[in-house]
Amino acid sequence: MKSGRQKRAEIEAHRAEKRDKARQGERLDAERRRREAFEAALARGEVAVNKATLAPTGSYGYPDFQLRGTYLPIPFACKSCGKAEVWTPHQQKWWYETAKGDPFSGPSMCRRCRAIERRRKAEARRVHLEGVERKRKAKGG
Ligand SMILES: [Zn+2]
Repeated sequence: MKSGRQKRAEIEAHRAEKRDKARQGERLDAERRRREAFEAALARGEVAVNKATLAPTGSYGYPDFQLRGTYLPIPFACKSCGKAEVWTPHQQKWWYETAKGDPFSGPSMCRRCRAIERRRKAEARRVHLEGVERKRKAKGG
């Protein structure tokens, strides 16, 4: 016949086993819900984040898209002309994963204003370098 102590130990072991199974079930449920949400997001046109290719943030915490695991369309107003545009998931993937853009940076100007700004900067650089060259020649360098 089992002693009271043995019986108690068996009951405890049985309870611990039940607890572990319940915990494992919760983990699997959470994992399944996460996967379903991810697949639903992809079906809506969001694009999966490849975390390994992101630039380091140099910051505590993570940007929303990294926590969520997908890029979703981001509507924004151009800071230069005010035009409403949408930053598409594919544009974001390129910016963060290929161009290694700062993970906490976002859209600010529409496509047209960005092109204008790029030309303005290139022109300013050209004028600056010409000035430097002129100075060098004037000094007889
Ligand atoms: Zn604009």
